[in-house]
Amino acid sequence: MHILLMGPPGAGKGTQAAKLIDHLHVPHISTGDMFRAAVKEGTDLGKKAKEYMDAGKLVPDEVTIGIVKERLMKPDCIKGFILDGFPRTVIQAEALDKSLADMNIKLDRVVNISASDDELVERLAGRRVCKACGQPYHSKYSPPACENTCDKCQGEVYQRADDKEETVKKRLDVYHAQTKPLIDYYSKRGLYVEINGEQHIDKVFLDLCQSLASENP
Ligand code: ADP
Ligand code: ADP
Ligand code: ZN
Repeated sequence: MHILLMGPPGAGKGTQAAKLIDHLHVPHISTGDMFRAAVKEGTDLGKKAKEYMDAGKLVPDEVTIGIVKERLMKPDCIKGFILDGFPRTVIQAEALDKSLADMNIKLDRVVNISASDDELVERLAGRRVCKACGQPYHSKYSPPACENTCDKCQGEVYQRADDKEETVKKRLDVYHAQTKPLIDYYSKRGLYVEINGEQHIDKVFLDLCQSLASENP
């Protein structure tokens, strides 16, 4: 299946994608994870992306579209993918449409996970992430079993620099201005579905699985 996971920062995209790939066995393509890996490696891409990420802004479209196109060309994308955090602008969505058409791939579902800004601020303030595998945790609501150690891979669990309060506010503004219009872009087609992200993680996952299993979203 070819799935797009959309939603504001903190809605639960990464959390749900991690659960889904255990079932679907398709690649999880997260532009945020790709940028963080590039920053860690200190590549030119990483140096460029870091400036924008630290400021809570979007990395420019041409850079982002370039890395996604390259990733989509790998053969593992033919059987399916979960795209998480891309597209985030209408220009990115148009570029994705074109790439998929060239590859003869049709999206099966566009899933938008929704949550209110108040909830998002609370979640992002407490978010902790595994440095090695990207698994998200929450300091209060879903901490790892051993402090600062990932349950899945024993990697180090840390707080992202862009999850500081000032940057979070900026990221939410950017979401409302640049990414929210994508709801309109995709809801005009038959494959769009919205899931209430303000439910227990397991209930969100159940809704997600039900929507993927049904013929109509
Ligand atoms: P979140 O999990 O909070 O939604 P991500 O990990 O997906 O955030 O992204 C972190 C940062 O990486 C973003 O704030 C942005 O700077 C950059 N980024 C990720 N995806 C994109 C994209 N599709 N377009 C532009 N910038 C992106
Ligand atoms: P995104 O990838 O959309 O930015 P994450 O999956 O990283 O979001 O989740 C953001 C934070 O919220 C993490 O701390 C995560 O543990 C927590 N979280 C995710 N889903 C839920 C949920 N349904 N209820 C409560 N907390 C959640
Ligand atoms: Zn891990």
